[in-house]
Amino acid sequence: MGKEFPFAPRKTEKIHTRNRIIRTPIPVPASRPIIETLRRFEPASMRGQPLVIWDRAFGVHVYDRWGNKWLDFSSGVLVANAGHGIREVEKAIVRTAAKPLHHNYCFPSAERAALARFIIEQVAPPNLDRVFLLTTGSEAAENAIKVCRANSHRIGGPKKNVILSFESDFHGRTLGSQLAGGIPALKEWIIHRDPDFVNVPCPDGFRGKDQTFDGFLRELKRRNVLPKNIAGLFMETYQGGSAILLPAPFMKELRRFLDENRAMLIFDEVQSGIGRTGKMLAFEHYGVKADLVCLGKGISSGLPLAAVLGHSSHMDLFPPGSMTSTHTGNPIICAAALANLQYIRRKKLVENSARLGKVMRTRVQKIWRKYPDPVGHAASAGLVGAMQLVARPGTTDPNPDTAFAIVRHCIEHGLMLFAPVGNGGASVKLSPPLSINESQLNEGFDVLEAAFAAVLQNRK
Ligand code: PMP
Repeated sequence: MGKEFPFAPRKTEKIHTRNRIIRTPIPVPASRPIIETLRRFEPASMRGQPLVIWDRAFGVHVYDRWGNKWLDFSSGVLVANAGHGIREVEKAIVRTAAKPLHHNYCFPSAERAALARFIIEQVAPPNLDRVFLLTTGSEAAENAIKVCRANSHRIGGPKKNVILSFESDFHGRTLGSQLAGGIPALKEWIIHRDPDFVNVPCPDGFRGKDQTFDGFLRELKRRNVLPKNIAGLFMETYQGGSAILLPAPFMKELRRFLDENRAMLIFDEVQSGIGRTGKMLAFEHYGVKADLVCLGKGISSGLPLAAVLGHSSHMDLFPPGSMTSTHTGNPIICAAALANLQYIRRKKLVENSARLGKVMRTRVQKIWRKYPDPVGHAASAGLVGAMQLVARPGTTDPNPDTAFAIVRHCIEHGLMLFAPVGNGGASVKLSPPLSINESQLNEGFDVLEAAFAAVLQNRK
Protein backbone atom coordinates (compact mmCIF):
# COMPACT_ATOMS: atom_id res chain seq x y z
CA MET A 1 0.00 0.00 0.00
CA GLY A 2 1.11 3.55 -0.56
CA LYS A 3 3.74 2.75 -3.14
CA GLU A 4 4.49 4.94 -6.13
CA PHE A 5 6.19 4.40 -9.47
CA PRO A 6 9.18 6.75 -9.59
CA PHE A 7 9.52 9.36 -12.33
CA ALA A 8 12.83 7.94 -13.45
CA PRO A 9 12.74 7.37 -17.20
CA ARG A 10 14.42 4.09 -18.09
CA LYS A 11 15.83 3.25 -21.48
CA THR A 12 13.71 0.72 -23.31
CA GLU A 13 14.42 -1.65 -26.15
CA LYS A 14 12.39 -0.65 -29.21
CA ILE A 15 9.28 -2.75 -29.64
CA HIS A 16 7.01 -2.79 -32.69
CA THR A 17 4.32 -5.45 -32.98
CA ARG A 18 0.69 -5.17 -34.13
CA ASN A 19 -0.31 -4.67 -30.52
CA ARG A 20 2.59 -2.87 -28.90
CA ILE A 21 4.87 0.00 -29.83
CA ILE A 22 7.53 1.33 -27.47
CA ARG A 23 9.84 3.96 -28.92
CA THR A 24 10.76 6.24 -26.00
CA PRO A 25 12.15 5.83 -22.51
CA ILE A 26 9.36 5.11 -19.98
CA PRO A 27 8.04 7.23 -18.33
CA VAL A 28 8.29 9.52 -21.35
CA PRO A 29 10.57 12.41 -20.32
CA ALA A 30 8.29 14.90 -22.15
CA SER A 31 5.35 13.84 -19.95
CA ARG A 32 6.99 15.32 -16.87
CA PRO A 33 5.11 18.66 -16.89
CA ILE A 34 1.73 16.90 -16.82
CA ILE A 35 2.79 14.62 -13.99
CA GLU A 36 4.23 17.53 -12.04
CA THR A 37 1.03 19.54 -12.48
CA LEU A 38 -1.00 16.65 -11.08
CA ARG A 39 1.42 16.25 -8.18
CA ARG A 40 1.15 19.93 -7.41
CA PHE A 41 -2.65 20.21 -7.49
CA GLU A 42 -3.99 16.81 -6.46
CA PRO A 43 -3.80 14.92 -3.18
CA ALA A 44 -1.01 12.36 -2.86
CA SER A 45 -3.65 9.64 -2.78
CA MET A 46 -4.17 10.13 -6.51
CA ARG A 47 -0.65 8.91 -7.27
CA GLY A 48 0.25 5.27 -7.51
CA GLN A 49 -0.53 4.26 -11.08
CA PRO A 50 2.17 3.67 -13.71
CA LEU A 51 3.25 7.00 -15.19
CA VAL A 52 1.71 6.68 -18.62
CA ILE A 53 -0.34 9.57 -19.97
CA TRP A 54 -3.34 7.96 -21.67
CA ASP A 55 -4.10 10.06 -24.73
CA ARG A 56 -6.45 7.74 -26.66
CA ALA A 57 -7.72 4.25 -26.20
CA PHE A 58 -9.38 2.14 -28.84
CA GLY A 59 -10.39 -1.52 -28.68
CA VAL A 60 -7.70 -3.32 -26.67
CA HIS A 61 -5.06 -0.64 -27.19
CA VAL A 62 -3.99 2.43 -25.25
CA TYR A 63 -1.92 5.19 -26.86
CA ASP A 64 0.10 8.09 -25.53
CA ARG A 65 0.92 11.15 -27.62
CA TRP A 66 4.55 10.22 -28.11
CA GLY A 67 3.97 7.24 -30.40
CA ASN A 68 3.81 4.50 -27.77
CA LYS A 69 1.05 1.89 -27.82
CA TRP A 70 0.11 -0.61 -25.16
CA LEU A 71 -1.84 -3.83 -25.28
CA ASP A 72 -4.36 -3.35 -22.52
CA PHE A 73 -4.56 -5.90 -19.71
CA SER A 74 -6.20 -3.37 -17.37
CA SER A 75 -9.49 -2.23 -18.96
CA GLY A 76 -8.68 0.96 -16.99
CA VAL A 77 -9.64 -0.74 -13.79
CA LEU A 78 -11.92 -3.52 -15.08
CA VAL A 79 -14.18 -0.91 -16.64
CA ALA A 80 -13.75 -1.13 -20.42
CA ASN A 81 -15.29 -4.60 -20.70
CA ALA A 82 -16.59 -3.91 -24.22
CA GLY A 83 -13.22 -2.45 -25.20
CA HIS A 84 -12.25 1.20 -25.43
CA GLY A 85 -13.82 3.82 -27.65
CA ILE A 86 -16.65 1.66 -29.01
CA ARG A 87 -18.18 3.52 -31.97
CA GLU A 88 -21.77 2.69 -30.97
CA VAL A 89 -21.12 4.10 -27.49
CA GLU A 90 -19.51 7.19 -28.96
CA LYS A 91 -22.51 7.73 -31.25
CA ALA A 92 -24.94 7.40 -28.32
CA ILE A 93 -22.95 9.96 -26.33
CA VAL A 94 -22.75 12.41 -29.22
CA ARG A 95 -26.42 11.95 -30.16
CA THR A 96 -27.62 12.71 -26.65
CA ALA A 97 -25.13 15.50 -26.06
CA ALA A 98 -26.06 17.16 -29.34
CA LYS A 99 -29.86 17.06 -28.81
CA PRO A 100 -28.85 18.66 -26.45
CA LEU A 101 -29.81 16.87 -23.24
CA HIS A 102 -27.02 16.87 -20.68
CA HIS A 103 -29.03 16.65 -17.51
CA ASN A 104 -32.61 16.11 -16.38
CA TYR A 105 -32.22 15.25 -12.63
CA CYS A 106 -34.82 12.59 -11.74
CA PHE A 107 -37.41 13.82 -14.19
CA PRO A 108 -38.48 10.90 -16.33
CA SER A 109 -36.37 10.40 -19.44
CA ALA A 110 -36.53 8.08 -22.42
CA GLU A 111 -32.83 7.26 -21.98
CA ARG A 112 -33.29 6.13 -18.38
CA ALA A 113 -36.38 4.13 -19.25
CA ALA A 114 -34.65 2.26 -22.07
CA LEU A 115 -31.63 1.44 -19.92
CA ALA A 116 -33.69 0.32 -16.92
CA ARG A 117 -35.73 -2.00 -19.11
CA PHE A 118 -32.62 -3.50 -20.74
CA ILE A 119 -30.89 -4.08 -17.41
CA ILE A 120 -33.88 -5.83 -15.85
CA GLU A 121 -34.76 -7.86 -18.93
CA GLN A 122 -31.27 -8.79 -20.10
CA VAL A 123 -28.77 -8.41 -17.27
CA ALA A 124 -30.58 -8.96 -13.95
CA PRO A 125 -31.35 -12.45 -12.68
CA PRO A 126 -35.05 -13.40 -13.10
CA ASN A 127 -35.94 -12.80 -9.43
CA LEU A 128 -34.84 -9.15 -9.41
CA ASP A 129 -37.17 -6.65 -11.01
CA ARG A 130 -35.92 -3.19 -10.01
CA VAL A 131 -32.80 -1.21 -10.82
CA PHE A 132 -31.66 1.94 -9.07
CA LEU A 133 -29.08 3.83 -11.09
CA LEU A 134 -26.21 5.63 -9.39
CA THR A 135 -22.82 7.01 -10.30
CA THR A 136 -20.08 5.10 -8.46
CA GLY A 137 -19.57 1.61 -7.10
CA SER A 138 -19.15 3.00 -3.58
CA GLU A 139 -22.56 4.63 -3.83
CA ALA A 140 -24.07 1.34 -4.96
CA ALA A 141 -22.52 -0.33 -1.90
CA GLU A 142 -23.87 2.38 0.43
CA ASN A 143 -27.27 1.95 -1.09
CA ALA A 144 -27.29 -1.83 -0.81
CA ILE A 145 -26.48 -1.46 2.90
CA LYS A 146 -29.34 1.04 3.26
CA VAL A 147 -31.90 -1.17 1.54
CA CYS A 148 -30.71 -4.25 3.42
CA ARG A 149 -31.04 -2.60 6.82
CA ALA A 150 -34.36 -0.96 5.98
CA ASN A 151 -35.66 -4.41 5.16
CA SER A 152 -34.18 -6.15 8.21
CA HIS A 153 -35.44 -3.50 10.64
CA ARG A 154 -38.90 -3.89 9.14
CA ILE A 155 -38.97 -7.64 9.65
CA GLY A 156 -36.87 -7.99 12.82
CA GLY A 157 -36.60 -4.62 14.53
CA PRO A 158 -33.49 -2.50 15.15
CA LYS A 159 -31.42 -5.40 16.54
CA LYS A 160 -31.52 -7.14 13.20
CA ASN A 161 -28.78 -4.88 12.01
CA VAL A 162 -25.60 -6.92 11.43
CA ILE A 163 -23.97 -6.58 8.03
CA LEU A 164 -21.53 -9.43 7.59
CA SER A 165 -18.76 -9.34 5.05
CA PHE A 166 -15.49 -11.11 4.45
CA GLU A 167 -12.04 -10.00 5.55
CA SER A 168 -10.25 -8.50 2.52
CA ASP A 169 -13.54 -7.51 0.86
CA PHE A 170 -13.43 -4.17 -0.91
CA HIS A 171 -16.65 -2.24 -1.42
CA GLY A 172 -15.43 1.33 -1.94
CA ARG A 173 -13.90 4.26 -0.08
CA THR A 174 -16.89 6.04 1.49
CA LEU A 175 -17.82 5.64 5.16
CA GLY A 176 -20.36 2.84 4.89
CA SER A 177 -18.60 0.97 2.11
CA GLN A 178 -15.34 1.04 4.06
CA LEU A 179 -17.04 -0.14 7.25
CA ALA A 180 -18.40 -3.07 5.28
CA GLY A 181 -15.03 -3.62 3.61
CA GLY A 182 -12.60 -5.93 5.32
CA ILE A 183 -9.19 -4.37 4.82
CA PRO A 184 -8.20 -2.87 8.22
CA ALA A 185 -5.64 -0.38 6.85
CA LEU A 186 -8.33 1.34 4.78
CA LYS A 187 -10.53 2.15 7.74
CA GLU A 188 -7.99 3.42 10.25
CA TRP A 189 -9.48 6.90 9.79
CA ILE A 190 -12.82 5.73 11.22
CA ILE A 191 -12.72 5.94 15.01
CA HIS A 192 -16.30 5.17 15.99
CA ARG A 193 -16.93 2.04 14.04
CA ASP A 194 -20.39 0.63 13.88
CA PRO A 195 -19.97 -2.70 15.71
CA ASP A 196 -22.74 -4.19 13.58
CA PHE A 197 -20.39 -4.35 10.62
CA VAL A 198 -18.67 -7.69 11.18
CA ASN A 199 -15.92 -9.21 9.05
CA VAL A 200 -15.26 -12.96 9.00
CA PRO A 201 -12.45 -14.82 7.18
CA CYS A 202 -13.07 -15.38 3.49
CA PRO A 203 -12.93 -19.11 2.76
CA ASP A 204 -10.82 -18.67 -0.38
CA GLY A 205 -8.37 -21.46 0.38
CA PHE A 206 -5.47 -19.00 0.58
CA ARG A 207 -5.99 -16.43 3.33
CA GLY A 208 -8.97 -18.35 4.73
CA LYS A 209 -7.84 -21.95 4.72
CA ASP A 210 -10.97 -23.38 6.35
CA GLN A 211 -13.53 -23.69 3.56
CA THR A 212 -16.15 -25.54 5.60
CA PHE A 213 -19.45 -23.98 6.52
CA ASP A 214 -18.96 -25.12 10.12
CA GLY A 215 -15.83 -22.98 10.13
CA PHE A 216 -17.93 -19.99 9.09
CA LEU A 217 -20.43 -20.67 11.89
CA ARG A 218 -17.58 -20.93 14.42
CA GLU A 219 -16.28 -17.52 13.31
CA LEU A 220 -19.73 -16.01 13.85
CA LYS A 221 -19.82 -17.47 17.36
CA ARG A 222 -16.34 -16.15 18.15
CA ARG A 223 -17.59 -12.69 17.23
CA ASN A 224 -20.80 -13.12 19.27
CA VAL A 225 -23.01 -12.71 16.23
CA LEU A 226 -26.49 -14.14 16.78
CA PRO A 227 -27.78 -15.46 13.44
CA LYS A 228 -31.20 -13.88 14.03
CA ASN A 229 -29.56 -10.45 14.20
CA ILE A 230 -27.98 -10.71 10.75
CA ALA A 231 -29.47 -8.25 8.27
CA GLY A 232 -27.42 -9.53 5.38
CA LEU A 233 -24.13 -10.79 4.10
CA PHE A 234 -22.46 -8.43 1.65
CA MET A 235 -19.66 -9.97 -0.37
CA GLU A 236 -17.49 -9.43 -3.38
CA THR A 237 -18.41 -12.34 -5.65
CA TYR A 238 -14.68 -12.91 -5.98
CA GLN A 239 -12.31 -10.81 -3.94
CA GLY A 240 -10.66 -8.19 -6.12
CA GLY A 241 -7.17 -8.99 -4.87
CA SER A 242 -7.48 -12.71 -5.45
CA ALA A 243 -9.89 -13.45 -8.34
CA ILE A 244 -10.82 -16.63 -6.45
CA LEU A 245 -14.41 -17.87 -6.70
CA LEU A 246 -15.58 -19.51 -3.48
CA PRO A 247 -16.62 -23.18 -3.42
CA ALA A 248 -20.21 -23.56 -4.68
CA PRO A 249 -21.17 -26.00 -1.87
CA PHE A 250 -20.13 -23.37 0.68
CA MET A 251 -22.20 -20.76 -1.10
CA LYS A 252 -25.26 -23.05 -1.17
CA GLU A 253 -25.02 -23.65 2.58
CA LEU A 254 -24.56 -19.94 3.11
CA ARG A 255 -27.70 -19.19 1.09
CA ARG A 256 -29.72 -21.75 3.12
CA PHE A 257 -28.43 -20.30 6.39
CA LEU A 258 -29.31 -16.74 5.37
CA ASP A 259 -32.78 -17.83 4.25
CA GLU A 260 -33.36 -19.57 7.58
CA ASN A 261 -32.44 -16.35 9.33
CA ARG A 262 -34.37 -14.06 6.99
CA ALA A 263 -31.16 -12.31 6.01
CA MET A 264 -30.14 -11.05 2.60
CA LEU A 265 -27.35 -12.22 0.35
CA ILE A 266 -25.85 -9.22 -1.43
CA PHE A 267 -23.29 -9.60 -4.18
CA ASP A 268 -20.93 -6.76 -4.96
CA GLU A 269 -20.51 -7.27 -8.70
CA VAL A 270 -19.12 -3.79 -9.34
CA GLN A 271 -15.98 -5.48 -10.58
CA SER A 272 -17.01 -9.07 -11.29
CA GLY A 273 -20.21 -8.31 -13.22
CA ILE A 274 -20.98 -7.76 -16.92
CA GLY A 275 -19.18 -10.77 -18.31
CA ARG A 276 -15.84 -10.47 -16.58
CA THR A 277 -15.80 -14.07 -15.31
CA GLY A 278 -17.44 -15.66 -18.35
CA LYS A 279 -21.00 -15.25 -17.00
CA MET A 280 -23.03 -12.04 -17.21
CA LEU A 281 -23.00 -11.93 -13.39
CA ALA A 282 -20.28 -13.84 -11.57
CA PHE A 283 -22.55 -15.19 -8.84
CA GLU A 284 -24.20 -17.33 -11.51
CA HIS A 285 -21.18 -19.64 -10.97
CA TYR A 286 -22.55 -20.41 -7.51
CA GLY A 287 -26.07 -21.51 -8.46
CA VAL A 288 -27.66 -19.44 -5.68
CA LYS A 289 -30.13 -16.57 -5.63
CA ALA A 290 -29.12 -13.00 -4.88
CA ASP A 291 -31.28 -10.51 -2.97
CA LEU A 292 -29.35 -7.42 -4.05
CA VAL A 293 -26.62 -6.95 -6.63
CA CYS A 294 -24.30 -3.95 -6.95
CA LEU A 295 -23.05 -3.12 -10.43
CA GLY A 296 -20.60 -0.52 -11.74
CA LYS A 297 -17.51 -0.37 -13.95
CA GLY A 298 -18.35 -2.60 -16.96
CA ILE A 299 -22.01 -1.57 -16.94
CA SER A 300 -20.97 1.41 -19.07
CA SER A 301 -17.43 0.39 -20.11
CA GLY A 302 -16.42 4.00 -19.45
CA LEU A 303 -18.70 6.78 -18.24
CA PRO A 304 -19.49 6.81 -14.51
CA LEU A 305 -22.49 4.62 -13.83
CA ALA A 306 -23.41 2.16 -11.09
CA ALA A 307 -26.59 0.36 -10.13
CA VAL A 308 -28.30 -1.66 -7.45
CA LEU A 309 -30.54 -4.50 -8.55
CA GLY A 310 -33.18 -5.82 -6.20
CA HIS A 311 -36.73 -7.02 -5.83
CA SER A 312 -39.57 -4.49 -5.64
CA SER A 313 -40.49 -5.78 -2.15
CA HIS A 314 -37.14 -4.38 -0.97
CA MET A 315 -36.43 -1.64 -3.47
CA ASP A 316 -39.83 0.03 -2.95
CA LEU A 317 -39.31 0.43 0.80
CA PHE A 318 -38.35 4.05 0.34
CA PRO A 319 -41.16 6.38 -0.74
CA PRO A 320 -40.94 8.73 -3.75
CA GLY A 321 -38.11 11.23 -3.47
CA SER A 322 -36.23 9.49 -0.64
CA MET A 323 -33.80 7.27 -2.54
CA THR A 324 -32.43 9.38 -5.38
CA SER A 325 -29.28 11.15 -6.41
CA THR A 326 -28.65 14.31 -8.44
CA HIS A 327 -26.93 12.45 -11.24
CA THR A 328 -29.06 9.31 -11.09
CA GLY A 329 -29.46 8.15 -14.63
CA ASN A 330 -27.79 11.05 -16.39
CA PRO A 331 -29.16 10.87 -19.95
CA ILE A 332 -25.82 10.86 -21.76
CA ILE A 333 -24.51 8.14 -19.49
CA CYS A 334 -27.71 6.08 -19.79
CA ALA A 335 -27.57 6.24 -23.57
CA ALA A 336 -23.89 5.26 -23.53
CA ALA A 337 -24.47 2.38 -21.10
CA LEU A 338 -27.35 1.00 -23.14
CA ALA A 339 -25.22 1.07 -26.30
CA ASN A 340 -22.44 -0.66 -24.33
CA LEU A 341 -24.67 -3.44 -23.00
CA GLN A 342 -26.24 -4.01 -26.41
CA TYR A 343 -22.76 -4.21 -27.93
CA ILE A 344 -21.63 -6.74 -25.31
CA ARG A 345 -24.68 -8.89 -26.10
CA ARG A 346 -24.41 -8.56 -29.87
CA LYS A 347 -20.69 -9.30 -30.00
CA LYS A 348 -21.12 -12.20 -27.54
CA LEU A 349 -18.38 -10.84 -25.32
CA VAL A 350 -19.55 -12.78 -22.27
CA GLU A 351 -19.11 -15.95 -24.30
CA ASN A 352 -15.69 -14.73 -25.47
CA SER A 353 -14.71 -14.18 -21.85
CA ALA A 354 -15.72 -17.77 -21.01
CA ARG A 355 -13.92 -19.21 -24.05
CA LEU A 356 -10.67 -17.26 -23.62
CA GLY A 357 -10.90 -17.81 -19.88
CA LYS A 358 -9.55 -21.29 -20.54
CA VAL A 359 -6.48 -19.81 -22.23
CA MET A 360 -6.02 -17.36 -19.37
CA ARG A 361 -6.28 -20.13 -16.79
CA THR A 362 -3.64 -22.24 -18.57
CA ARG A 363 -1.22 -19.34 -18.80
CA VAL A 364 -1.77 -18.13 -15.24
CA GLN A 365 -1.27 -21.64 -13.87
CA LYS A 366 1.87 -22.07 -15.98
CA ILE A 367 3.44 -19.01 -14.34
CA TRP A 368 2.43 -20.25 -10.89
CA ARG A 369 3.96 -23.68 -11.58
CA LYS A 370 7.18 -22.03 -12.72
CA TYR A 371 7.40 -19.71 -9.68
CA PRO A 372 5.70 -21.62 -6.86
CA ASP A 373 7.65 -19.82 -4.12
CA PRO A 374 7.31 -16.12 -5.00
CA VAL A 375 3.72 -16.62 -6.19
CA GLY A 376 1.65 -17.52 -3.14
CA HIS A 377 -1.54 -17.94 -5.09
CA ALA A 378 -2.74 -17.48 -8.64
CA ALA A 379 -6.28 -17.73 -9.90
CA SER A 380 -8.48 -16.67 -12.76
CA ALA A 381 -12.11 -16.77 -13.81
CA GLY A 382 -13.04 -15.84 -17.35
CA LEU A 383 -10.90 -12.84 -18.25
CA VAL A 384 -9.78 -11.79 -14.79
CA GLY A 385 -6.69 -13.16 -13.13
CA ALA A 386 -4.66 -12.35 -10.04
CA MET A 387 -1.19 -13.47 -9.05
CA GLN A 388 -0.39 -12.82 -5.41
CA LEU A 389 3.30 -12.32 -4.68
CA VAL A 390 4.49 -13.42 -1.25
CA ALA A 391 7.58 -12.56 0.73
CA ARG A 392 8.16 -16.06 2.10
CA PRO A 393 7.12 -19.35 0.51
CA GLY A 394 4.14 -20.98 2.13
CA THR A 395 2.94 -17.74 3.79
CA THR A 396 0.46 -15.07 2.77
CA ASP A 397 2.88 -12.23 3.65
CA PRO A 398 2.64 -9.81 0.73
CA ASN A 399 5.60 -8.87 -1.44
CA PRO A 400 4.59 -5.56 -3.04
CA ASP A 401 8.13 -4.73 -4.25
CA THR A 402 8.23 -7.72 -6.57
CA ALA A 403 4.66 -7.10 -7.74
CA PHE A 404 5.50 -3.47 -8.56
CA ALA A 405 8.68 -4.48 -10.39
CA ILE A 406 6.69 -6.92 -12.54
CA VAL A 407 4.09 -4.29 -13.43
CA ARG A 408 6.81 -1.76 -14.21
CA HIS A 409 8.56 -4.23 -16.52
CA CYS A 410 5.28 -4.90 -18.35
CA ILE A 411 4.61 -1.18 -18.82
CA GLU A 412 8.10 -0.71 -20.25
CA HIS A 413 7.39 -3.54 -22.69
CA GLY A 414 4.02 -2.36 -23.95
CA LEU A 415 1.63 -4.29 -21.72
CA MET A 416 -0.76 -2.05 -19.79
CA LEU A 417 -1.44 -3.09 -16.21
CA PHE A 418 -2.67 -1.01 -13.29
CA ALA A 419 -0.63 -0.93 -10.09
CA PRO A 420 -0.73 -4.04 -7.89
CA VAL A 421 -3.82 -4.35 -5.69
CA GLY A 422 -5.14 -6.45 -2.83
CA ASN A 423 -4.02 -6.97 0.72
CA GLY A 424 -0.55 -5.43 1.01
CA GLY A 425 -0.67 -4.30 -2.63
CA ALA A 426 1.07 -7.44 -3.89
CA SER A 427 -1.41 -8.83 -6.35
CA VAL A 428 -0.69 -8.45 -10.07
CA LYS A 429 -4.08 -8.24 -11.68
CA LEU A 430 -4.89 -9.16 -15.28
CA SER A 431 -8.10 -7.89 -16.84
CA PRO A 432 -8.11 -7.26 -20.58
CA PRO A 433 -11.22 -5.98 -22.35
CA LEU A 434 -13.56 -8.90 -23.06
CA SER A 435 -13.17 -8.14 -26.77
CA ILE A 436 -9.56 -9.34 -26.82
CA ASN A 437 -8.70 -12.19 -29.20
CA GLU A 438 -6.64 -15.27 -28.49
CA SER A 439 -3.42 -14.15 -30.14
CA GLN A 440 -3.53 -10.80 -28.33
CA LEU A 441 -4.14 -12.60 -25.05
CA ASN A 442 -1.17 -14.87 -25.67
CA GLU A 443 1.04 -11.92 -26.67
CA GLY A 444 0.20 -10.23 -23.38
CA PHE A 445 1.06 -13.36 -21.43
CA ASP A 446 4.38 -13.67 -23.27
CA VAL A 447 5.26 -10.19 -21.99
CA LEU A 448 4.08 -11.09 -18.48
CA GLU A 449 6.15 -14.28 -18.45
CA ALA A 450 9.22 -12.34 -19.56
CA ALA A 451 8.55 -9.84 -16.76
CA PHE A 452 8.43 -12.60 -14.14
CA ALA A 453 11.65 -14.07 -15.54
CA ALA A 454 13.47 -10.71 -15.60
CA VAL A 455 12.34 -9.57 -12.14
CA LEU A 456 12.73 -12.85 -10.32
CA GLN A 457 16.10 -13.55 -11.91
CA ASN A 458 17.36 -10.16 -10.72
CA ARG A 459 16.37 -11.04 -7.19
CA LYS A 460 18.50 -14.22 -7.00
N1 PMP B 1 -16.83 -2.65 -5.10
C1 PMP B 1 -15.88 -3.32 -5.77
C2 PMP B 1 -15.89 -4.81 -5.77
C3 PMP B 1 -14.90 -2.61 -6.46
O1 PMP B 1 -13.94 -3.27 -7.11
C4 PMP B 1 -14.93 -1.20 -6.44
C5 PMP B 1 -13.89 -0.37 -7.17
N2 PMP B 1 -12.67 -0.93 -7.34
C6 PMP B 1 -15.93 -0.57 -5.72
C7 PMP B 1 -16.87 -1.31 -5.06
C8 PMP B 1 -15.99 0.94 -5.62
O2 PMP B 1 -16.33 1.48 -6.83
P1 PMP B 1 -16.05 3.05 -7.14
O3 PMP B 1 -14.57 3.19 -7.21
O4 PMP B 1 -16.73 3.27 -8.47
O5 PMP B 1 -16.67 3.83 -6.04
